[in-house]
Amino acid sequence: MVPMDTITLNNGVTMPQLGFGVWQVPDDEAEKAVAIALEHGYRGIDTARLYYNEEGVGRALRASGVPRDELFVTTKLWNTDHDRVRAAFDESMARLGLDVLDLYLIHWPVPSRDRYVGAWKAMEELYAEGRIRAIGVSNFAKAHLERLFQETDIVPVLNQIELHPQMAQAELRAFHAEHGIATEAWSPLGQGRGLLDLPILAEIGKRHGKSPAQVVIRWHLQLGNIVIPKSVTPARIAENFEVFDFELEPTEMDAVTALDSGRRLGPDPDKMSWMG
Ligand code: NAD
Repeated sequence: MVPMDTITLNNGVTMPQLGFGVWQVPDDEAEKAVAIALEHGYRGIDTARLYYNEEGVGRALRASGVPRDELFVTTKLWNTDHDRVRAAFDESMARLGLDVLDLYLIHWPVPSRDRYVGAWKAMEELYAEGRIRAIGVSNFAKAHLERLFQETDIVPVLNQIELHPQMAQAELRAFHAEHGIATEAWSPLGQGRGLLDLPILAEIGKRHGKSPAQVVIRWHLQLGNIVIPKSVTPARIAENFEVFDFELEPTEMDAVTALDSGRRLGPDPDKMSWMG
């Protein structure tokens, strides 16, 4: 087994710091990609109701033979389900074929609809019943987290946000740290669009015998982020996991951080009203 770092969440549950994401991967292809990822040593899988591949993920998990307690499965509550959390959760669990989920996230706060506090309370109940090992959020801005602090009982274990060298999120990461919330990075490779072609990443990689993608994943790990790169290409799935045998120097970390331009690839959480 490849050595892998873990993060201890604020409720004592540990999760792999490096996982595997399956957004935009159709069900059958997700089954194949997750099977390959598990063979290479990944144990954390990030899916969502919206990805329409929970069934494929579930098939791959069952076929892998990896003991359930070694796996860490995340899925997410979709925006149209804020008023029907229990039903949506049961549906996701039936598709995944799981009894207990490791991590359930509110996918987006959708502030214009203003239902996320109620959704969080329903997730707190499922957590209290032992059906979920940890509950968290995604795409929450500071103001949305503050409302949860004021109006609910449980502090989210993590916030999964857009985070890559060109959108380094220093302020929100610091706020998370202040409140014991882990930071999970989505689109950690900037969706492969442009970021990985920047010469500085190749230059740093060359010094370590690593690719630009490996440099970026290493940057996330050393910042303390949980990171869930996606690929359906077997060689890249393997490559993205070979990041535990080198370390970036402080000057190299700074050079990657200096790429930050606040460039978002996805929607602004405050403005997102898409109901999907
Ligand atoms: P990513 O940043 O992981 O980039 C993936 C793309 O980068 C691939 O499609 C490929 O084109 C390229 N790539 C991957 N490995 C490479 C390598 N070794 N060398 C060169 N190119 C490589 O993008 P993502 O899929 O958007 O994000 C990762 C995961 O984050 C998703 O699959 C999903 O699980 C999660 N996510 C969550 C949200 C949310 O709203 N919570 C939004 C987007 C993504």
